[in-house]
This record gives sequence, C-alpha cells and structure tokens, in this order.
Amino acid sequence: MQKGAILVLSGPSGAGKSTIINAASDEIGEYYFSISTTTRKPRVGEEHGVDYFFVSKENFEEDIKAGNFLEYAQVHGNYYGTSLKPVREALEEGKLVIFDIDVQGHRLVRAKMNDITTSAFITPPTLEALETRLRARCTDDESVIVKRIENAKSEIRAVGEYDFTIINDTVELAAKQFVIVAKAARLKQSAEDEEKFITQWIGK
Ligand code: ADP
Ligand code: 5GP
Repeated sequence: MQKGAILVLSGPSGAGKSTIINAASDEIGEYYFSISTTTRKPRVGEEHGVDYFFVSKENFEEDIKAGNFLEYAQVHGNYYGTSLKPVREALEEGKLVIFDIDVQGHRLVRAKMNDITTSAFITPPTLEALETRLRARCTDDESVIVKRIENAKSEIRAVGEYDFTIINDTVELAAKQFVIVAKAARLKQSAEDEEKFITQWIGK
C-alpha cells in the first residue's frame, strides 16, 4: 500500500527551486528528494549521484526500453527522467517525495499518481529577473541561457495546472511558503487510505 506523498516542483530553470528546497530543508521534516537521471553535461560543482545521475544518451534510451522511468521528457534538447524504483521505495516508507521536474513530467506524474500528488510552480517575479539570475549563476553559456529563457516563456503558460504558485522574490519568503506547501502535501491521503479510513470511521 502507498503510504507516502508526492510534491512536484516545476518552474523555469533558474527559478530558484534548488535554492528554496535548501533554504527550507530543516523545516519540512523527513523527505526524499528524487535525484533525476539526465543526458545533459554536469555544470561546474555538480556531482553524479547528488545533483543528477549523469548518463549517456544510449544508457538513457536503454532505461526507457527497460521501463525504469516513472516519467521522462526531453527538455532543452536533453533527456531528463525519474527512476521508478527509489520513488516507490520512499513512498512505501511513508516519505514525502519531492520532484524537481518540468511541466511535461508533472502531467505524467498527475496521470499516474494524482491522488497522492501536490504540486507547486515556482517562478521569479518577472522574465527579466529570471534572465538576471541565470546570468548571475554563471553556469551556462549564452546559447543555453537563450534556450532556457525561450523555454520559460512557454512553461509559464502551464502555471494554472499547479495547486500552488510560489513567486520567488526573496528566498526567505519563498522558503516560508514552500514549508506550508510541503506540510499540506503530507496531509494528502491516497484514495486507498481514504476507503480504509471511511470503513474504520463508520465502524463496520
Ligand atoms: P533552479 O534550481 O530553479 O534552476 P537555482 O536555485 O539554481 O534555480 O537558482 C538560480 C540562481 O538564482 C542561483 O544563482 C541562485 O543563487 C539565484 N537565486 C535564487 N533565488 C533567488 C532570489 N530570491 N533572489 C536572487 N537570486 C536568487
Ligand atoms: P536543469 O538542466 O536546469 O537542471 O533542468 C532543466 C529542467 O529539467 C528543469 O525544468 C527541471 O525541472 C527539469 N527536470 C529535471 N529533472 C527532471 C526529470 O526527471 N523529469 C522531467 N520531466 N524534468 C526534469
């Protein structure tokens, strides 16, 4: 039986998702952060098995064929995917599982695990602020930044598909809002648990 819950975070690359999770991590209780697999090259400072599992296109396509992904998508010309096994294990242990995935991934997770999923779209206040932050991060070259900004313009259109929107103006406020969303996500019951609860509540 599924005991845990899922919290999906999406938002343009550079929105501040990692920053907010880090800032809030002491206050959201025990959680499992789903480490995605990607074919994109590691940025300076990123580590295999910590930020992502960095693999070749061939390896990624083998995993697709083997049915190892809960969801996967192509973003900015690279594959990104969530491995099923660790997520299933964390859910069975009753953990809150946090995903940092794009809008396509969110739709796929909703289609498969809607009843235990809560989602939040994280975005800087404006496109201009996003551009400034992407440049200040100094991790991507110009062509990558241009691609990410173009992608952000289409991703923002999916904001209405999410349960919550967090505007990342200051990290402090956004982290506070994120803590509230994480707490709400934990309260979400699976349909299966709900049936059991009703039966017990009625007492028959
Ligand atoms: P994401 O994980 O969504 O790609 P990051 O957490 O890497 O985004 O943030 C992108 C950049 O913006 C980083 O350099 C980060 O330090 C900076 N940043 C994040 N939140 C803010 C904020 N509220 N104000 C200013 N800069 C921010
Ligand atoms: P980045 O290259 O900045 O780390 O991530 C680029 C985009 O890919 C972000 O929007 C991020 O949320 C998304 N992403 C990261 N991992 C996954 C994943 O496993 N699945 C999907 N669908 N998107 C992902």
